[in-house]
Amino acid sequence: MKYQSSRGKFNSISAAEAIKMGISPDGGLFVPDYIPELKEKDWQLMESENYQERACRILRYYLGDFSDEEIKNCVYDAYNDESFDDERIAPLAELKPGVYIQELWHGPTSAFKDMALQLLPQLMTTSARKTGDNGEIIILVATSGDTGKAALEGFKDIAGTRIIVFYPEDGVSEVQKRQMITQEGKNVYVAAVSGNFDDAQTGVKNIFADHAFAERLNKQGMKLSSANSINWGRLLPQIVYYISAYVELRAKRKLVSGEPVNIVVPTGNFGNILAAYYASRMGLPVHKLICASNTNKVLDDFIRTGIYDRNRNFEKTISPSMDILISSNLERLLYEITGHDAARVASWMEELKTSGRYEVDAVSLTRIKDLFWSEFCTDEDTIKTISACWDKQGYLLDTHTAVAVNVYEKYLSESKDRVKTIIASTASPFKFGSSVAQAVLEPKIVSGQDEFALLDQLSAATGVKIPEGIKGLEKRPVLHNTLSTRDGMQDTVAAFLE
Ligand SMILES: *Cc1c(COP(=O)(O)O)cnc(C)c1O
Repeated sequence: MKYQSSRGKFNSISAAEAIKMGISPDGGLFVPDYIPELKEKDWQLMESENYQERACRILRYYLGDFSDEEIKNCVYDAYNDESFDDERIAPLAELKPGVYIQELWHGPTSAFKDMALQLLPQLMTTSARKTGDNGEIIILVATSGDTGKAALEGFKDIAGTRIIVFYPEDGVSEVQKRQMITQEGKNVYVAAVSGNFDDAQTGVKNIFADHAFAERLNKQGMKLSSANSINWGRLLPQIVYYISAYVELRAKRKLVSGEPVNIVVPTGNFGNILAAYYASRMGLPVHKLICASNTNKVLDDFIRTGIYDRNRNFEKTISPSMDILISSNLERLLYEITGHDAARVASWMEELKTSGRYEVDAVSLTRIKDLFWSEFCTDEDTIKTISACWDKQGYLLDTHTAVAVNVYEKYLSESKDRVKTIIASTASPFKFGSSVAQAVLEPKIVSGQDEFALLDQLSAATGVKIPEGIKGLEKRPVLHNTLSTRDGMQDTVAAFLE
């Protein structure tokens, strides 16, 4: 299988090259030239396989230039009992009959980003080796919270790499900040940036765009790279868990072979739900892909109207990992929906860049609506959903998963369909514990408590255990205390790499 740019100017490169490069030089995203279909035999065999074996089977279709041995090494280094606290890796919980929650947060940082970021470093270093690149890979990340920590855990102590993470000084939760400044590992660097997430992100983009700086690093045998969700190596691991969920339900006779399911995904950058789309194209029978937004509902509006318009206010919500107005991965869907019309995709992306808006044609919109359904959820309804789900089902949702559950309820009341449903759960409730505590604990218990005390209260009241990676975080030694100005980020990078 070969890869090409979604904007058409860069074609026929191998998977290893696509993963190593991350983004195409024409600004597009790398996409496979066809989507492989699983055979009935694959589905049958997968029923008796574990998560890792299923991952190898699926990855093999996309990584034609990797040997079976290389794929196996990558997969088992990523998903094992040291990195995940559940041997099923992405277990399913039954919320009510026919409605399943897939818990994607059993990795080291308690958010679903681990599913991809545990595997990406393996894929990246293997790709570099295969393409004859012996330099050191320097991963540069700007984070609004979850990605930074997941990338640090993924790249920690991976030979041939170093990772530098910038987070906005006042833009992440106390748990997220603590997770990052206590990060262990010989090749990890963390710095706060005075400013907001946009400042950190702009700073990182400027460093990537500085050719003289890249040249300087090159001379020292170093190359900058990104762990961003535009990299194909981050999307690919996410296709696996949707297929694995369906196989699991088949194996347990919860559904019959070929029976359609709905998949509900709390969406920000459109990466996770796009992986579900690829899974459907590989043969997972999907009735509806349900896209759940918070009040930054640029995607909900797009799926309803065909108009993508980022010219609106950015809202800070209690599901911050979905506070996004430019959903980069949507570009890959447009490429598929238009039948690989790279020129059309490129012109829409140009419009987005110049005017912040584009509108797709009627045929494309019809195709999108055939498969996707969307709605959004306010912060108030997010809290209500967490509270109701705990009261009625005894299941504790985090704020992002609650957006998905709320939107699914809206879908049910509109469609009345009885199709079995998988809801992607993207974070442990303890990762966003103060909002969750507000939803399920008495106000007098919650008021005046700091975030870490609330986690203990929440665990005591619900009997749900705090994940290892979060427990006792406030007592761990601080290992990183660099503060960078917005304009000084490049100097900070240079100093780290000295
Ligand atoms: C990143 C993230 C999301 C959004 O996922 P996308 O792939 O960007 O759509 C949702 N929930 C949590 C907890 C996340 O960390």
